[in-house]
Amino acid sequence: MSEHPTHQLPSYLNSHELGPWGVYLEQVERVTPYLGKLSKWVETLKRPKRSLIVDVPIELDNGTIAHFEGYRVQHNTTRGPGKGGVRFHQDVTLSEVMALAAWMSVKTAAVNLPFGGAKGGIRIDPRNYSRGELERITRRYTSEIGVIIGPNKDIPAPDVNTNAQTMAWMMDTYSMNEGATTTGVVTGKPVSLGGSLGRVEATGRGVYVVGCEAARDKGIPIEGARVVIQGFGNVGGTAARLFYEAGAKVIAVQDHTGCVHNANGLEVLALLKHVEEHGGVAGCPDAESLGAADFWALETELLIPAALESQINEDNANSVRARIVIEGANGPTTPEADDILTSKGTLIVPDVLANAGGVTVSYFEWVQDFSSFYWTEPEINHRLEAMMRAAYTSVAAVADKHQVTQRTAAFITACTRILESREVRGLYP
Ligand code: GLU
Repeated sequence: MSEHPTHQLPSYLNSHELGPWGVYLEQVERVTPYLGKLSKWVETLKRPKRSLIVDVPIELDNGTIAHFEGYRVQHNTTRGPGKGGVRFHQDVTLSEVMALAAWMSVKTAAVNLPFGGAKGGIRIDPRNYSRGELERITRRYTSEIGVIIGPNKDIPAPDVNTNAQTMAWMMDTYSMNEGATTTGVVTGKPVSLGGSLGRVEATGRGVYVVGCEAARDKGIPIEGARVVIQGFGNVGGTAARLFYEAGAKVIAVQDHTGCVHNANGLEVLALLKHVEEHGGVAGCPDAESLGAADFWALETELLIPAALESQINEDNANSVRARIVIEGANGPTTPEADDILTSKGTLIVPDVLANAGGVTVSYFEWVQDFSSFYWTEPEINHRLEAMMRAAYTSVAAVADKHQVTQRTAAFITACTRILESREVRGLYP
């Protein structure tokens, strides 16, 4: 990765510990030559508009007081309110949340949703806390970031280790503080509370839709295609089921408990049930376990990283034998790995396109909340599929025109939209 001149870095970041933010900066470097006169504004993309760090104190079940570090970063709001999930994870840092927020700006612009990009997180391992403790943490965090969120300002949603219940607590806390029920302040809510049908499955469904488009581009029939998936949560689990139902062979799945492999294809419905009962894929019947190095080296048509950042990197990229990588996670491939895979002819459908199904149905949810008129599930899935296909087709066309990767093409499309809006709005005050 190239060194970044310090004038591009906010002073609170150490240039040697940039993590995912460094990956994002490199991606912006790569798109800059394609921005023409708009590159005058590119520095806008290299720093978040607003970053908030909050202390989250709660009383634990044993009567002691614990403090957690929480973040909400609004990377860009030029094209609309901030939008993006809230992550609970023990490794969450400010620079990670900055990168995730920036990827949301690019993602919403790449699929042309009227949003900017934001992200939040709490540095916590939620497995170590009771439901009551998690509720208190979520409510206190929501109150603390309440000064910058709102249905027209910044709309949180679920992300790693958060779900519809987390969103219900956030919506209730914000509403009680405001003195008015405000469903549109978060998306990914329970359906009984203004949530949208199809939202839970939306990210995985989007991964499936663009996966089918990419396979068609490569001349690979989905029927019988091998699929390898890292992560079996909301995104990986849904994508696995949809590919399985379409006749693909899901030959390996890895999660935090281990990796299971069956060259003839795993029984995905049984595996989903196993994970529900045992908390992970390890020990699933009719499968052998596999080490991490062997997992990445499996020969496959489709590889779907659907867990955390930087999973495909210079250490394992050379061994990857996938024809197509569909990025269900945010930031799963480092720029070095991007280059290695591209030189081998692997097609990478980038995160900002591949996993945009979630935020697309979040957009539908927000629109439904504003109009208090709710759509049917087939209507939502149909609109989602149409938007994902259109976004894929236009990104693939830009990649073809400039002879660049789909990632750079998605960044060209998105950054052009953001910076054109930036320019016509102008600097004020
Ligand atoms: N957390 C999801 C993402 O990374 C969804 C965000 C949203 O719906 O706002 O895209």
